[in-house]
Parts: sequence; structure tokens; C-alpha cells
Amino acid sequence: MLVLDRKSPSDSGTSPMRPALEPIQAYKAGMSLAEASRRTGQTHFSKLASNENLLGASPKVGAAVQQALASPEIYPDPYCETLRAAIGARLGVESGRILVSPGSEALIDYLFRAVLHPGDSILLSSPTFPAYEIFGRCAEARLIDVPRRANFDLDVAAFAAEAARGPKLMVLCTPNNPTGNALTAADIETILAATPRSTLVFVDEAYREYHEAFDTLALLDAWGGPWVSGRTFSKAYGLAGLRVGYGVASSEALVGYLDRLRPPFNVTSVSQAAALAAWDDQDHLTRTVALTIAERGRVEDVLADLGVDHTRSQANFVFLRTPAGPEATTERLLRQGLIVRPTPVAGGWVRITIGRPSDNDSLIAALPAALAL
Ligand SMILES: *Cc1c(COP(=O)(O)O)cnc(C)c1O
Repeated sequence: MLVLDRKSPSDSGTSPMRPALEPIQAYKAGMSLAEASRRTGQTHFSKLASNENLLGASPKVGAAVQQALASPEIYPDPYCETLRAAIGARLGVESGRILVSPGSEALIDYLFRAVLHPGDSILLSSPTFPAYEIFGRCAEARLIDVPRRANFDLDVAAFAAEAARGPKLMVLCTPNNPTGNALTAADIETILAATPRSTLVFVDEAYREYHEAFDTLALLDAWGGPWVSGRTFSKAYGLAGLRVGYGVASSEALVGYLDRLRPPFNVTSVSQAAALAAWDDQDHLTRTVALTIAERGRVEDVLADLGVDHTRSQANFVFLRTPAGPEATTERLLRQGLIVRPTPVAGGWVRITIGRPSDNDSLIAALPAALAL
């Protein structure tokens, strides 16, 4: 019998959803080109809101993708053996200590699910990448936040003091998103020296290719506890649309636990082939990273001339305080064809990706009016 007057589940008072999910805000991505067009009626934009590499992936990726597309009926390699071997060989790490995932966000998800019980603690330092808080809350973990200093550097002493209390999981994002600044090797050593080997340390190195100042893996190995370094093909490698990230872990056993809970065929054959081609073209990577860093310097010089507060970014974006406020600046830049990222960080901060030289030319031309009170 058809029941016509049934209430929807949401007003029945007996939602099947976990209460822990109620206070969580779903991740809000940067504005898409389609939304920007809808909002303004314009068709041409520089997309500077999501830290993609607008210089593009290696030209070798296209052919690799074409080849992978020839057999769409075949499941991908569930262990990404070829890609892991290539990554391991260059990093000097056994491939068993590497896990490939559909974006490093998925790696964070697997790791947090594998480690956290309800009530466990996660140590982090805001403002930082929102995924840690989202997945932490999903796991019903307790967030211990040691806020950054006024210049957004990590408060190393305060953070190390919390680390010494042995949180279940500790997150270091370096260079940090959205602030762009990086930890030094000495900072990391100070924190690790205080951290008991019962804590799992996650170092998010999504922007590592822009700041290869020292060997993070060696520091973590020397510490000797369990750790994962998260990396991605989405940023410097220019493959955000294909969703490939990877983690390097302290042991094969740790990867084995993540293998138990991840979906088996989680990285498509197209994505694996694209990542391998991008990984094998280090010349392209080196060129695009060098150009991005040079262009970042050009934008920072303009910020300095305008007297605008900004952080010392070591990534492919700048983080600046706008006198006009983030919403007004974002809207004005949008009208000039520039999509940037307002942030909720107190004081009025905006994050802007470094694009192609022509994108940055447009940005430099538009900034004075967009920032003015
Ligand atoms: C972009 C980003 C990621 C995740 O990127 P994926 O596309 O999921 O690989 C992870 N951490 C930080 C800090 C990021 O900025």
C-alpha cells in the first residue's frame, strides 16, 4: 500500500545520520569557472583560487592518457605497482612504504580512519588546511589547536609542549595552506624531539616541490616513530583533475593497515598512467616550479610596493591582508576576470594562486583598485 502522507526523514526526528556529522561544514572549494561565468556573464577568467598549476602538466601526460584509455574495460592495478616503484626509486624508499591514493585528501581520510578512535586527540595549528578538522571530526576526535603566531609561523615551543603530551595524531602542514610559510628543519627536529613514539605524525607536503629545502623523510626516519608524509600530483605536477596523491610511510606495515580500509581500485588506470608520465618528466617539473617561484617574486614585489601585508610564501600562492576586506577584494577581482580565494582568517586575508605570466600581469594590474579601502 502506498503511504502518501509520510514525513521526510529529516522532520521525523529520527535521522539515521551520525550526530557527529551535524556540526561539520562540508569542504568549500574555490569558485569554478562555470560559477564565475554565471555570476558575471563573462567568459574569460584566470582561475587563481585553488593552487592548480596553470602552466599545465608535462606534455608527455597526453600520450600516456591516450594509451591508458585504450582499455577502459580493464580494472586498474589496485596496488599502483609501476607508479610506486618509480616514486620509490627516485626517493630512495622501498615501494612497499608508498601508498597511492585518489588525491592526497583520500590519503588523509584513510589515515585518520585507520588511527583515530572517538575521543582520541589530534594536534594541529590553525589556520591550516580544513581536511584535518573535517576528517578529525568525522572520527569524533578531539582537536587540539595551537594557533599560529601573528605572522602565521608555527609557535614551535607551544606546539612542541603539546606534542610532548602524546596526541594520537599530529599534523604538520609545510608549506602551510593557506598561509604559504614553511617550517625549517630545526623546527621539525625540535617538535619531533618532544614527541613520544606513540604519536603518529602526518606531514602534509602538498607544496613540497616548491620548497625542497631539506629531506623531511630523513628527519622523520631519524625520529623513529610512526609517520606518513602526504604528497600530491595535484599542485606542481599539474594533475589536479585526475586525482592522484601519494604517501610515504615509516613502514610497510603502516601501509598495510591503510590497504585494509581503502577501496581496492581507487586510482584509475588513466590517473596512474598520467602520474607516471608526469613523474618521469622532472625537467618539466623543474621548469614550471622555477617559473612559478620567479612569478611569485614579481607579485610579492608589487605587494611590497603597495605596502600590503603578506606572508613569506614558499608555495605557489600568496597570502595577503586586504584593507578592503576579503569579500570586496574577491568580488572586485572577479569583475576583472580573476578568481581568487577569500579566507575566514581574522584580519581580512586572501589567498591568490600564482598563475601563468599573463594571469599574473592581469592580477598586478587589478590589485591596487581591488585592495583599496
Ligand atoms: C591541495 C592540498 C591537498 C590535497 O590535494 P589533492 O588534490 O587531494 O591531492 C592536501 N593538502 C594540502 C595542504 C593541500 O593544499
